[in-house]
Amino acid sequence: MDHGKLVKILWGIAGVVGVSTLAAFVVLMQMTLQVTSADPQGRAEAHARQCRDNLRDLSAAKERWAFDYGKSAGAEVGMADLRSSYLKKEVACPAKGTYVLGAVGTRPYCEYAGGRHELTTEAGTAAP
Ligand SMILES: [Zn+2]
Repeated sequence: MDHGKLVKILWGIAGVVGVSTLAAFVVLMQMTLQVTSADPQGRAEAHARQCRDNLRDLSAAKERWAFDYGKSAGAEVGMADLRSSYLKKEVACPAKGTYVLGAVGTRPYCEYAGGRHELTTEAGTAAP
């Protein structure tokens, strides 16, 4: 829409409903737009970042558990083993994924509706 025309229409509305009401409406519209047009790619990346933080915690917890119980690579470990004293907090994927711990010596990952969250660096994983 032509900008001049839009301004004219807005002033017309302002004359009827009052400037403060219109200003409140514009602010509300902007907020709505920001929410609905939130970049889904950016959100997915933020989710992946948060999820990788969780995966690092899980990976470190697995290694500590394996050390404490004298488990070697390939040993099965469950979330219940880590929950009691190896995880600082309950981990939850922001994209509602499910964590797959895997065996000792492997990297945990997360399966979510859009794919898989994985650790991309060596951080938190022991050499096999
Ligand atoms: Zn995830």
